[in-house]
Amino acid sequence: MRHLYGSLALAALLGCGTPTLAQEYKTLHEKAIVVDTHNDVLISVLEGLRLEDDLSGKTHSDLARFKQGGVDVQIFSVWSDETYGKGKGFDFANLQIDSLNAIVNRNPDKMMLARTPDEVMQAVQQNKMAAMIGLEGGHMIEDNLTYLEELHKRGTSYMTLTWNNSTSWASSAMDEASGKLPKSKKGLNKFGKQVVRKMNELGMMVDLSHVGERTFWDAIKTTTKPVIVSHSCVHSFNPHFRNLKDDQIKAIGKNGGVIHLNFFSGFLDPDYDKRMSAFRANHKAEVDSLRKLNKSSIEVYEWAMAHYPEEAATLRPPLSLLLDHLDHIVKLVGVEHVGLGSDFDGITSTPKQLDSVADMPVITRELLARGYSEEDIKKILGENFMRVFRANVGA
Ligand SMILES: [Zn+2]
Repeated sequence: MRHLYGSLALAALLGCGTPTLAQEYKTLHEKAIVVDTHNDVLISVLEGLRLEDDLSGKTHSDLARFKQGGVDVQIFSVWSDETYGKGKGFDFANLQIDSLNAIVNRNPDKMMLARTPDEVMQAVQQNKMAAMIGLEGGHMIEDNLTYLEELHKRGTSYMTLTWNNSTSWASSAMDEASGKLPKSKKGLNKFGKQVVRKMNELGMMVDLSHVGERTFWDAIKTTTKPVIVSHSCVHSFNPHFRNLKDDQIKAIGKNGGVIHLNFFSGFLDPDYDKRMSAFRANHKAEVDSLRKLNKSSIEVYEWAMAHYPEEAATLRPPLSLLLDHLDHIVKLVGVEHVGLGSDFDGITSTPKQLDSVADMPVITRELLARGYSEEDIKKILGENFMRVFRANVGA
């Protein structure tokens, strides 16, 4: 049914634009509950930025742009680098939760901390953004189930079992893909399975972004609740270790879970790295001197965008590629198993037209243009996530 009037609608969009379609997508986007399962801006907040300020040009996100983008539910990522061990991670996670609470407390008219599906609906009814917490990396519980419980009490709704680094109980996609991990260290060990069962019991969603394939399959077999993949893409389009293979996508479908698509050009587009390397080579002298100044790759990229805007624009894939990844999941397992997990403020490059959180409505426009029904679009934008959230919390 989908592509039936897709080309017609697309032609209208490409032409001078049909006023009805132009209005239609905005109305639909406004009406729908829009959920983004992954945003990394809290790290920039810890570095001193305030979400109340206009952060255009500095970040992908701030409160005004969340509003503009019609984001009803934002899961803020609580992240820590690979430092792992006793006394490392748990305190840092709490510090980020403190800073999110402070933002919410300063802006009670604009946002609300939501720990349950009921609290999300309350926020939506009051026209406030529901702020939720996702823990990105099992290393932050420091191998301690009491810490997991404490973070859940503070409102953590999901935990990504690993970030790029493995823990003693779960192997990451990066480590499994490196080929250096012995077989005995792959997957979930006994404690890892206990962690998954504890999460099920608490009603904390299991997030399978970043985990290795062995961990993925062990977790899918262990969990009694539907899982999420908070910010990944499709492997058959781009064979990156962070993306999901078709059999994994099918398993998520069977499990009743949802895959939330990451907006990173490097996960969406198999040729992005090649274009980026060519760009770096073209500007080697400048790039090298920036490196000598200890600039991060994000800063180097930002510099490049600013100094060579025309060339930089050609590095970005078209928005249609994100929709192609989405279509693929729908074709494989149905519209009930896909959503959005932008990874804004955790990534250096996004498809054209998706410059910041303010641009979320363009996705609704493209979904309409591809012939998705209103009902299906609402599922993709947020209802699928809410279904999994409810199933985990038992509400
Ligand atoms: Zn991530």
